[in-house]
Amino acid sequence: MIKYPIRNHPNDSPVESLSKTYQLSMLKDKHGRVHDYLRISLTDVCNFRCLYCMPEENIKFMVPSKLMQADEIDRIAQEFVKLGVRKIRLTGGEPLIRNDAEKIITSLSKYPVNLTLTTNGTRINEVIPTLVAAGVKSINLSLDTLKAEKFFQITRRNLFAKVWDNIQLLLENGFHVKVNVVVMRGFNDYEILDFVEWTKNQPVHVRFIEFMPFDGNQWNNEKVFTYKEILEVVDAKYSTLRLKDEINGTAKKYKVYGHEGTFAVISTMSAPFCSNCNRMRLTADGKMKNCLFSKSEIDILGALRKGEDIIPLIRQCVIEKEVALGGQFNSDFEHLDAGKIKNRSMINIGG
Ligand code: SAM
Ligand code: SF4
Repeated sequence: MIKYPIRNHPNDSPVESLSKTYQLSMLKDKHGRVHDYLRISLTDVCNFRCLYCMPEENIKFMVPSKLMQADEIDRIAQEFVKLGVRKIRLTGGEPLIRNDAEKIITSLSKYPVNLTLTTNGTRINEVIPTLVAAGVKSINLSLDTLKAEKFFQITRRNLFAKVWDNIQLLLENGFHVKVNVVVMRGFNDYEILDFVEWTKNQPVHVRFIEFMPFDGNQWNNEKVFTYKEILEVVDAKYSTLRLKDEINGTAKKYKVYGHEGTFAVISTMSAPFCSNCNRMRLTADGKMKNCLFSKSEIDILGALRKGEDIIPLIRQCVIEKEVALGGQFNSDFEHLDAGKIKNRSMINIGG
């Protein structure tokens, strides 16, 4: 087992005291929600081809010159921190596939934020010393099946063992590991109990995610395995305990009595959690979205490159946020026509 030494880091210090030097007034939308969590997509490229995330063909990746460069990500992040951002998640595409991912992680680690990332896990063994040095404590990792053959069907890559080993490496090094599982009816719903069983002897935090509609991902309402159905499956076998959810959390958290880990459900489709949303997104080409499902985007990178002040643009984007689900649909997903939703693919937005 390889263990990496933990160093003292700004992320270990109380965020409030460090942030005083930066603080401008907070970002509030017209519904009074304070926004202090930024998700930055580092790239729309990925070494996987997950069928629920990207179109099967005609994938157009962004031109490299259009992507935010490492120094631009740093400058934009700094403005968000001044506006009260306290959490930054790097995502993608696959964030760790970018050659300068470690440089970006290290540069963002100087800010008084909870810095974290969502990854498919394939490069964790290469970057773990950087994550430790940057004070990253928690990682979200995607794994939709515990079976190698099924893994290949979903991702179209033969890398189950690599991802599994990297989860073990993170656990051995004391990381808080959340495992994202997109549940699709008739496809991997029969593995729900296997995932919950995994939480018995390992401190993993499994999060079942309801399948969401994005451009080109062949979503239909019948494939959504809902929050209620997931609980019915688990409750038929285990005694569960409802846990306190995180403030602004998207996951409804549970634990099986006696298990080391926990499980949760992210019920975007059947029971959205927009009322206390605090999230903003930057796509890899520097467009700001105030919601995963927002129709509009604001070009932050373009403004930065022209030398303009980006703070008014960020404020405008947040103020305009719709009350729920980008104003495009509601929890009545059974009647949703996915073809009418105006959005990019998930890989293009940054999950
Ligand atoms: N490549 C990284 C990964 O897979 O974790 C980060 C990007 S990925 C787009 C972020 C998260 O979005 C993953 O947990 C993935 O499972 C989730 N996701 C992608 N498409 C989805 C969909 N259609 N419905 C629900 N979750 C989805
Ligand atoms: Fe890549 Fe993550 Fe999308 Fe899978 S879910 S294709 S790993 S970006």
